[in-house]
Amino acid sequence: MKMKKKEEFIYFNEEAYNVLQNYLLHQVDSIKNIFILVDDITSIHCLPILFRHISFLKKSNLIKIKSGEKEKNIYTCIQICKDLEKLKATRKSLIINLGGGVITDIGGFVASIFKRGIRFVNIPTTLLGMVDASIGYKTGVNLGSIKNEIGSFYIPKFLIIDPHFLKTLPNKEILSGMAEMFKHGLIADKNFWKEMNQIQIDIIQNENEWIHLIQKSILIKQKIVDQDPKEKGLRKILNFGHTIGHALESYFMSIKEMLHGVAVTMGMIYESWISFKINGLSFSDYIEIRSKLSTLYPIQNQISQLEIDKLLLIMEHDKKNEKNKIQFSLLKEIGKCSYNCQVPSSLIKESFLI
Ligand code: NAD
Repeated sequence: MKMKKKEEFIYFNEEAYNVLQNYLLHQVDSIKNIFILVDDITSIHCLPILFRHISFLKKSNLIKIKSGEKEKNIYTCIQICKDLEKLKATRKSLIINLGGGVITDIGGFVASIFKRGIRFVNIPTTLLGMVDASIGYKTGVNLGSIKNEIGSFYIPKFLIIDPHFLKTLPNKEILSGMAEMFKHGLIADKNFWKEMNQIQIDIIQNENEWIHLIQKSILIKQKIVDQDPKEKGLRKILNFGHTIGHALESYFMSIKEMLHGVAVTMGMIYESWISFKINGLSFSDYIEIRSKLSTLYPIQNQISQLEIDKLLLIMEHDKKNEKNKIQFSLLKEIGKCSYNCQVPSSLIKESFLI
């Protein structure tokens, strides 16, 4: 299946590899000009799958980094640029990012700055990468504990979606990606939210059973991004759950592991409470969201007063803020979302205590 849109570049399954192979054979002058970026886990689980589909890629250049969010920084990018230089990359080179959101964010950013911009292809191998991180042209890295502080908007040549990669992905990572799928339903498509509610945990490793939901989720995000690529307005609805979610993720990053999906889920619950208080979300919708998400995810219920103050400080430095005001995207109802909402600090604090 190929998405019909202004710029057709998202391909699924078998067709995806055919299109990519054809492009590489005809539009890249030499195999030496192809660079595959992997981490130490995707090099084991995902690279052999890519090679099975396009065998000549075995002769391309491999750049491997350690896996994990800690690697998503400017120093890793500098090292990759040095590797590219050493391997004689040119302005005609092309990077294939094979991995989760960390790899597609880093690889996309490097592609956007190396020699003022070279081509890249995203092959996301996590659910979060497929339905979220690799879509929407945002690339970037963290600055210390500030998420995605350095980055660019940069368009990949292709986005290749192959759900077979999910077979080796741990359940907690699947759940992390599903959080963004739930979000897509909550902000833009009530029927999709309902469909997502039917997913049984025991089928999540069998991607054939819900590939159609992955495709729908991608379409929802892509449609929003196409209307507002640079996030001047509508695209901000994708930030639902993320104002608080990113603060939680930044704060807990240095203390213990908190998966992006869990942070965003907690953010969606707290921001649904705020939506109920000031944006017209009905109490029954709030309860439906809270009970669905809190049964699926390991939500940390107790956040101390000290932690709440620190979280607020982080939110005050959110790059999405305008005129020194923390900006929220809030639900009006399930399937409809507003953006540029200002929320008093007292209500943000209250949401953590409910
Ligand atoms: P990740 O890239 O760290 O992947 C999670 C783990 O799964 C890693 O250890 C990875 O090595 C491993 N892995 C990847 N594919 C695998 C496979 N097929 N089988 C087994 N293991 C596999 O994390 P993620 O959750 O994919 O992405 C999170 C990142 O995405 C965050 O940095 C977040 O900020 C970013 N993000 C970016 C955007 C954007 O618009 N650019 C949107 C959302 C999230």
